[in-house]
Amino acid sequence: MTISFNDFNISKEIIDAIGEMGFEEPSPIQAGAIPLVLQGIDVIGQAQTGTGKTAAFGIPILERIDSKSKNVQAMILCPTRELSIQVAEEISKLGKFLKGVKVVPIYGGQPIERQIRALKQGTQIVVGTPGRIIDHIKRKTLKTDNIKIFVLDEADEMFDMGFREDIEMIIGRLPEEKQMTFFSATMAKEIMNFAKTYQSEPEIIRVVKKEMTVPKVDQYYFDLDPHMKTEILARVLDIYNPNLTIVFCNTKRMVDELTSKLKDRGYLAEALHGDLKQNQRDFVMNKFRKLSTDILVATDVAARGIDVDEVDMVVNYDMPQDDEYYVHRIGRTARAGREGTAISFVSGKEYYKLRDIQKYTKSIIARKEIPTLGDIRKNESTKLLNILTENINKEENKKYEPIINVLLEENYNPIDIASVCISLYMNEKGVGNHEELDYIDNDKKRPVRKQRQARPKERFKKGKWKRVFINIGRIDGVSERHILSAILQNNKLHKNDVGSIDIYDKYSFVDINAKRTNEVVKDLNKIRIRGRKIKSEIAKSSSKSGRRK
Ligand code: ADP
Ligand code: MG
Repeated sequence: MTISFNDFNISKEIIDAIGEMGFEEPSPIQAGAIPLVLQGIDVIGQAQTGTGKTAAFGIPILERIDSKSKNVQAMILCPTRELSIQVAEEISKLGKFLKGVKVVPIYGGQPIERQIRALKQGTQIVVGTPGRIIDHIKRKTLKTDNIKIFVLDEADEMFDMGFREDIEMIIGRLPEEKQMTFFSATMAKEIMNFAKTYQSEPEIIRVVKKEMTVPKVDQYYFDLDPHMKTEILARVLDIYNPNLTIVFCNTKRMVDELTSKLKDRGYLAEALHGDLKQNQRDFVMNKFRKLSTDILVATDVAARGIDVDEVDMVVNYDMPQDDEYYVHRIGRTARAGREGTAISFVSGKEYYKLRDIQKYTKSIIARKEIPTLGDIRKNESTKLLNILTENINKEENKKYEPIINVLLEENYNPIDIASVCISLYMNEKGVGNHEELDYIDNDKKRPVRKQRQARPKERFKKGKWKRVFINIGRIDGVSERHILSAILQNNKLHKNDVGSIDIYDKYSFVDINAKRTNEVVKDLNKIRIRGRKIKSEIAKSSSKSGRRK
């Protein structure tokens, strides 16, 4: 049983804003605190960093203020200027559709005149650091007599930073009748004592954690710049080459954004989140099960019911809102006795979440160096070397000796002979070809590579194939993936209906299951690949599949 934002008694405008921000369901601290704060009850809310405490008090504040009045009705104290700005921004976003609501951040360092002007225009919510707030109270530019809700945010940090006296002074200026709420990641004795003095019959919301067994999954994290996330995800997918991957984001919006970025890069990715209707979800899940999509980008809620055994990698594109979510997420892999890897993308503040998760799960999440483009290349080489060394002494290879001997007698160099064999093998496999790795896609500054997955040989044997011509090629920055995903936009087609894809400078050829060729050509002529309208037709000299460059 999960709670939805609709279960709270909040206005449609706020629900709409929450929807636009992409929140799918309330985080545990929100589920616990919002109904209480809405009722005007004094609350102590304890939950870790990054668990959505701002909205836990921000939503009820927006609900409880009178937007027609221009008086300050809610005050939030934060320990730093950055946090004040962040909190003010988050509340502004939540109140975006409420007419007349103003939120003003007040902190030291910014010219006081600007803040005075903002306050004069009328604001219902102020968010600020204690020093500057006191300054405004003394100047009488901030009136406190209409304040009915007070929030001490990050209370533990406030005390650590020695703000106790300032806080007491500010509280002393507030009206007798008011709601007092304290939010914090930890609840030291000092805060509890403070609460006793200033709150009346407070309710304590602690986000309690159940003991959970952590599945046996290899867990790593990358410390990275948020702007690099998509690029690094692409590299991870290329290097690990997982069969099925679930990538987790915290919001529906991020899920949609990332899915379309991955599709642009030619990956077979689909989005899964709560806005999808049941039949759309079933459709996506079917594609995933049938491997006609190999990356599922999902929110926590949407992924909850997923029971696909073959998921071999989980990526935390965003660090989860809750430790328990982390355990749920990584439990999507390593099912039915299989192996699994979980990779977390950690940037900035998320590091604290990572630390907490390690404590909570009593497991070690090892830091890994971000994969470089060189690693991608190395990885391809390693795979090839493994295959070669595994097979080098096989008895059945003897039958090729006469052919080699002919070449040697004709004075061909053994290295050249071996090289041509490897090159032919790589082409046959249809996997990453080393030369292609050096070919840089100008838009994305990353190598354009062939479709990651070696397509099963059987596919080429099944049925007859027809060759389809497409007037777009290497110089247009097209890769095998782009073409494959364009063709598979026709949902009735299966990956197995698509045979080899050969990309030349200005055009490409694709083998298509002969029964579907007309349909594919018709569809291709309607769409764009890499932003270009394309022309496609059945190739004149329709050769059978297997023809390669
Ligand atoms: P805290 O104050 O507990 O450290 P924040 O309020 O700063 O956490 O929230 C951390 C991030 O989570 C913010 O980017 C916020 O927009 C986002 N967030 C908050 N609530 C939700 C939710 N219910 N679903 C998804 N993301 C959320
Ligand atoms: Mg916070």
